Amino acid sequence: MASKNLPIINSKVAESALQVDGTRKKVVPADVRGRFIWARRAVFALLIAVWAGLPWLKIKGNPALFIDVPHRRFYIFGATFNSQDIWLVFFLMTGTAFALVVTTSLLGRVWCGWACPQTVFMESFFRPIERLIGGPREKRLRRSAESGFDAVWRGILTHVLFLAAALVVAHIFVSYFVSLPALWAMMHQSPGEHPEAFGWMVALTVLFYANFAHFREQLCVVVCPYGRLQSVLLDDDSLVIGYDEKRGEPRGKAAKAEKSDTAEKAEPLGDCVDCKRCVVVCPTGIDIRNGLQIDCVACTQCIDACDEIMDKLKRPRGLVRYDSLRGLRHEKKRILRPRLAVYAVLGVAGLVAATLAFRRHQSFEASMFRVPGAPFVRENGQIRNSYTVHLVNKQAQTETFLIEPFAQPGYSFNVPTPEVSLESMSSRSIPVVVTMPQADYHGDTRIKVKVVHKGGTEVKELSSTFLGAR
Ligand code: SF4
Ligand code: SF4
Repeated sequence: MASKNLPIINSKVAESALQVDGTRKKVVPADVRGRFIWARRAVFALLIAVWAGLPWLKIKGNPALFIDVPHRRFYIFGATFNSQDIWLVFFLMTGTAFALVVTTSLLGRVWCGWACPQTVFMESFFRPIERLIGGPREKRLRRSAESGFDAVWRGILTHVLFLAAALVVAHIFVSYFVSLPALWAMMHQSPGEHPEAFGWMVALTVLFYANFAHFREQLCVVVCPYGRLQSVLLDDDSLVIGYDEKRGEPRGKAAKAEKSDTAEKAEPLGDCVDCKRCVVVCPTGIDIRNGLQIDCVACTQCIDACDEIMDKLKRPRGLVRYDSLRGLRHEKKRILRPRLAVYAVLGVAGLVAATLAFRRHQSFEASMFRVPGAPFVRENGQIRNSYTVHLVNKQAQTETFLIEPFAQPGYSFNVPTPEVSLESMSSRSIPVVVTMPQADYHGDTRIKVKVVHKGGTEVKELSSTFLGAR
């Protein structure tokens, strides 16, 4: 019997993929159909299309999302960053963390059940393969204990297809780090021509195969820190998947329930017929009737499974449902609460900080240095100082920059290349020579030039010290 008060996190329950002594219990979830399964399949298809398509989608001539490790460049939806912009990652991660905190506080582990790549690829590629080759759960369980020809060829074919699926996932992953033309060319060449890339692809394929074919729910239950975090992020008003104990208990078989309806003294049973269908469909092997558990990845399969049973028994759906813990206890629900307000304020602050940080991201870099060597030269009654203006184009396309000295009485500027055209993420150093008559020199002064982004709005003022002696 489940406890009267549903705990927020209850990890000490009998059913789990991880047994009390720490060993693993193999979970073979049964197939289930229902409205949430179909909705999730649609979301998964969309997400896979987006993930696979983002490196192909071009914005301003570059992939929508691409990390060019060899050149230390990052392309994010039309913006180009280099290694000096790495500080922006802090704001990106802070903003994402706050978004996750607010989402979890409001919608529970919706990320795990609907959008985590572990769930998406597992349910879209690997489970359909084992269902297709091995048949329904009962047949798969039976075959796993057999060693005849039928079981062997099905087992081999399943794992060959798992490897092929892992190879597809590895290619999707790698396409974020290797340009698509390069990836395509490598796929048509001998591995010996690009041993390093080939080694990475093999390693990733093996890693994904090991994860999706063998490790599976253990990644969520043992490795992923998000599951542990939920105990502090969830409260009684967060949306979770739970069992309506008040309605379901005392549980008992349907036939027994019908008998109890007619028997005068028997205790009337609740709506749970103890069919355990919600347990056998669970990919982490837990019993949702034991309360909200850290192993629950909010996959919705127990909702669809129980709804199917309720439909058959002509009872209302929703014995297992999306609800808050307060709702499951039939108490008044609250959406707005202090914790959510605090999270939302922090989330908005994080978003504003991230937006401001990204807005400060520069379209080009410019700096001015004194040329190494003698600080100045005296020649023919003139003092000469030599500088270098260093420019980096951080735009996704070729851009032109103008180097314009500020008019300063007595100083003459010589800029041999006042107009510079730079390809995306390329850099160039341009010499600037400043002279003044020796007789006019009255001490060290700051001289200034500006760099104008032609066709853009950004202007940078650069300065350095003019040195000399009379
Ligand atoms: S599927 Fe529904 S009726 Fe069956 S055991 Fe689970 S909660 Fe009870
Ligand atoms: S308890 Fe239900 S929602 Fe949670 S992981 Fe198991 S089947 Fe999915």
